[in-house]
Amino acid sequence: MTTLSITGGRVLLSDLTIARADVLVDRDEGTVLEIGSDLAGDETLDASGSLVTPGFVNGHCHVAMTLLRGYADDKPLESWLREDIWPAEAELTAEDVRVGAELGLLEMIKSGTTAFADMYYEVPEIAAAVEKAGLRARLGHGVVTVVKDDEGARADARTSLEIATEYDGGADGRISTAFMPHSLTTVGGEYLEEFVPKAREAGVPVHYHANETRDEVEPIVEEHGVRPLAYAAEKGMLETEDFVAHGVHLDESEIDLLAECGTGVIHCPASNMKLASGMAPVQRMLEAGVDVGLGTDGAASNNDLSMLDEARDAAMVGKLAAEDASAVSAEAVVELMTSGSAEAIGLDVGRLEEGAAADLAVIDVERPHLTPHHDLVSHLAYAAAAADVRHTVCDGRVLMRDRRVLTLDETDVIDRANEAAQALVARVGE
Ligand SMILES: [Zn+2]
Repeated sequence: MTTLSITGGRVLLSDLTIARADVLVDRDEGTVLEIGSDLAGDETLDASGSLVTPGFVNGHCHVAMTLLRGYADDKPLESWLREDIWPAEAELTAEDVRVGAELGLLEMIKSGTTAFADMYYEVPEIAAAVEKAGLRARLGHGVVTVVKDDEGARADARTSLEIATEYDGGADGRISTAFMPHSLTTVGGEYLEEFVPKAREAGVPVHYHANETRDEVEPIVEEHGVRPLAYAAEKGMLETEDFVAHGVHLDESEIDLLAECGTGVIHCPASNMKLASGMAPVQRMLEAGVDVGLGTDGAASNNDLSMLDEARDAAMVGKLAAEDASAVSAEAVVELMTSGSAEAIGLDVGRLEEGAAADLAVIDVERPHLTPHHDLVSHLAYAAAAADVRHTVCDGRVLMRDRRVLTLDETDVIDRANEAAQALVARVGE
């Protein structure tokens, strides 16, 4: 056994109390051995003046969309997708997805994120990037059938199922998967009926966008006579292991249904605000006992992948939506971005305790904007930023030490991403 000791800092424990302690990690098993005083390891990470937190868990992303960051802004979801994003995505090559994913993973490591769920295309490229970068992920191929003939639609759904089966357990168990129909309005009901049972047989969960905008609710109510999540339940897509993104336009019956079924909801407040999709009833969901997590969505609608930014947004918009300053508290958002997201997407991470996964971030709290230290949980929710993250560790392996990423060549990734993004935009304009 080789060990890593994270020494001299304070540690955010799973009950959200903070202890002055060292953290001893089994690097081979990728687990926390002990949290206590004077713990020496084979390798040391200095955490003096810092807070050791569980690594952040980004519950919903399209990581390769980093190449479209700042490409099309200030539009609502429908026209943004149809006029800008889909035409650009039609030109994306496998190599583009690879470099876009590496750029996103670089940004995640630099902002303390150690696990994420991702829906996109060219998933083998994303899996290869995850394997190299050293994070944990639940990956899937997004299915869209509405613009395809029957043969194309079924091939797309089959691809998602095959990817989910083939890549589950990859990267020494750091990669898990899901069957990922894009949404309830972009995938025909007949394909859901055919392929969701096959996902169950394969033992993989189902992840999709739900109730993001009013335009996603009304067509289902008109066509099927029920709310979208009742329709999802009819199609067998509301199991405990399943999780949906957004859940902005939910009525009380749908919140109850989510709580009853144990289906997770990933709240994406920045994306919802930027596309003016609406405000998710997060406080209501928490009160009803829904498993809620937090996600950035893609970089084209956010426009960064920092979970610290997302936490602040979640607290702010949660209070506004509830018209209650005590709603979506600092403690609540710190749970959303760690254990909440982990539980919603079905990964056994997000807590720092003995025996838990050694996925963690070390945050420098001796900074002007994080002074004084009345309440470090408050600082995580409201004041800390990506640039405050000093070290990032996933599965017992140091991915970033003193802001230097060890698994990816930062300059090279940025250069290649700039080149790929410029070439992509040039192709779209031809
Ligand atoms: Zn999304």
